[in-house]
Amino acid sequence: MAVDDRLIGALCVETLRRGDRLGPAHDHEVFQTSTFPALLDGRYDGDVTFAELSARGDLGLGTFDACDGEMIALDGEFLRADVDGVIHPVDPQRKTPFAAVIPFAPTHRAQLTEPHDRDALLAAIDRAADDDSRVHAVRIDGRFELVRARSVPAQRKPYPPLAEVAAQQNVFDLHDVDGTMVGFAFPAYAATVNVPGYHLHFVTADRSRGGHVLDCRTGAVEVAIDCAGQIELELPAGVELPEGGTGASADAVKRIEGMR
Ligand SMILES: [Zn+2]
Repeated sequence: MAVDDRLIGALCVETLRRGDRLGPAHDHEVFQTSTFPALLDGRYDGDVTFAELSARGDLGLGTFDACDGEMIALDGEFLRADVDGVIHPVDPQRKTPFAAVIPFAPTHRAQLTEPHDRDALLAAIDRAADDDSRVHAVRIDGRFELVRARSVPAQRKPYPPLAEVAAQQNVFDLHDVDGTMVGFAFPAYAATVNVPGYHLHFVTADRSRGGHVLDCRTGAVEVAIDCAGQIELELPAGVELPEGGTGASADAVKRIEGMR
């Protein structure tokens, strides 16, 4: 069995191989290339270009070949946060070994007028979405008192596992900035596919700084959520869905990704 029964019950997961045509985007469907467990294993060479990825969604996150920074997709614009958290445009012919995008069409919204720390923010999103069996694609716009972010340096072959890359991460604090967080919350049972729990990337409104979010405290922000019931998973050569496994352990993910 390739996928947990509960995953089949709640989410429709389709897989396709390179060489199959990457079809059109569909509302409330996440398109993802490769799996998070494959990334954990050091599979940092992808087979999908950002030009192809952009046809499947306008909001999302991921990384680049050789794990060269943190990717932010917002309003159809694809951005790279380098190891110092400086934002660069992405060459459409560049490839990604791991990314998830969605044609963002919010199903739920919430206004947070008071400051929220990270845990309170995530709890507020959970309450607003009110369905933990689906994937939540999330966009949070507004003022942030603090964003603690990280990025990582490009890796050389033979690629080390992601835990070793995370040990080289550069952590930086952004204070009192306007900007946007984008990302996903996957249900815990979907750990064979993506990061269980919240995974968010941030970019400032002036598109100068950003990275993978480790911690935050908001000011007034607007939250928009797109509850997705479908995932299309593109599997590069050699990447399989883990057979009957549970994916990465919660402890390993927390160490590497820093969220819940
Ligand atoms: Zn990330």
